[in-house]
Amino acid sequence: MGRHPHVIILPLPLQGPVNCMLKLAELLCLEEIHVTFINTEHIQRRLRSCSDVESRFKRYPNFRIETIPDGLPEDNPRTGDRIVELFQSMEAESQMILREMLTSGSLGPNSEKPPSSIIADGFFSFAVEMAEQSKLPLIYFDTISPCGLWAYLCLPRLIEAGEFPFRDDDLDAPVKHVEEMECVMRRRDLPSFYRIGEIDDVLIQFIMREAWELPKAQALIFNTFEDVDSGTLSLMRTLGPEVYAVGPIHAHLNSRLAAAAASFYGLWKEDKSCIAWLDAQPPKSVVYVSIGSLACMTVDQSMEIWHGLVNSGARFLWVHREGSIVGPARDDDKDIPAELAKATEERGLIVGWAPQEEVLGHPAVGAFLTHGGWNSTLESVAAGVPMIGWPHFVDQQVNARYVSEVWKLGLDMKDSCGRKTVEEMVREVMDVRRGELLGRAEAMAKLAESSVKPGGSSYADLDRLILDIKFGRFSD
Ligand code: UDP
Repeated sequence: MGRHPHVIILPLPLQGPVNCMLKLAELLCLEEIHVTFINTEHIQRRLRSCSDVESRFKRYPNFRIETIPDGLPEDNPRTGDRIVELFQSMEAESQMILREMLTSGSLGPNSEKPPSSIIADGFFSFAVEMAEQSKLPLIYFDTISPCGLWAYLCLPRLIEAGEFPFRDDDLDAPVKHVEEMECVMRRRDLPSFYRIGEIDDVLIQFIMREAWELPKAQALIFNTFEDVDSGTLSLMRTLGPEVYAVGPIHAHLNSRLAAAAASFYGLWKEDKSCIAWLDAQPPKSVVYVSIGSLACMTVDQSMEIWHGLVNSGARFLWVHREGSIVGPARDDDKDIPAELAKATEERGLIVGWAPQEEVLGHPAVGAFLTHGGWNSTLESVAAGVPMIGWPHFVDQQVNARYVSEVWKLGLDMKDSCGRKTVEEMVREVMDVRRGELLGRAEAMAKLAESSVKPGGSSYADLDRLILDIKFGRFSD
């Protein structure tokens, strides 16, 4: 064995990445690898009050959490629309603190258990230099989708080819320079930042650096499995670093824990009352609606979705995360229209935050109207639930396109949420094309399940990753 295996895990301080990385941490702890998990103080406070992270990890003496400031003032809302502020302050402030910890502080070479490798979110381009300085191998874990990430990495090529910035407003124009995706992608299916018209925009510059730095890591981990993403994983393997596809990570952890189910590490308190409500609904009769932890919708958009759901005749469970519906209420909507109130009372339920993995696994759920965040997409894939995508930003545009056109597990609402569209899409998934979509979704769920069992591709990749971490087998 090389150095004593001790991994530093550095997640992006957001719901999806933190939950994913904690699950990876538990998978490593099960194999007696020491893990130090770096949370921002803000995330740690919220996790402590909304999840069982502390009691859960008490069983692993080889696990500990260290906190660092995210550099933002306390009253910054840290919401999706101000995410760039978080990226900038992490880069400017948190990075310095981490570097110090790793060179001369509590995680330095002279500490009691010096680290042997770093697993960082792929968005942290500064991690390459930080790992080099600390003489530690760097493993990037990109918790967005591989297809979304590939579309990020093609940004320099699109600029070189003159495809970005777009020359006109035609979002339906096909995209030619995203390898392997030429037949699938229109401009509107590219990650949201491609709609920014300026090369020197701060977000575009972040993505350019990610495209440049990512291949310098020794290894890349993805939350996906071969059967769903073999094409994109082959592309990732051409970058150079060793590739490990260990997902769906939530199902993988459940599989390795055998009896005990894994936790969800939420930043909001789950409203479990929806499970009893689901118990009382007929099989596959409910559309579950959620736009994740960061996206927002306007009051007008929420009214369109609401009318669409009600007009479709389906039952629905809808997550209204606090602060997720923004903007002034329209005068005529101050009072909820009577038909919406009545239909919701009869066949709907609205909650603040749902236990999503449990909801998607519930027999009453027949479809998921989702913003298409990668965790939500994979959780739906693993549960065999067809999707209707209403993408907002980051990789969601790509994911929704893949769901409808590559994996054919649902529909893509893309850039439209008019009540007529919502009604038609719900009817199509729940009724008109139900057999076909459900059949494919259930078949894909079986593949996901086998991938995380002994003999499966993700199971083998995680075993390989564990051995490579234990024996320090990462080349420079
Ligand atoms: N989630 C949840 N309850 C909710 C809504 C979302 O537990 O009511 C979880 C969901 O299971 C997923 C995560 O929040 O694991 C959202 O991650 P995703 O990548 O889908 O989207 P993001 O929030 O990053 O946009």
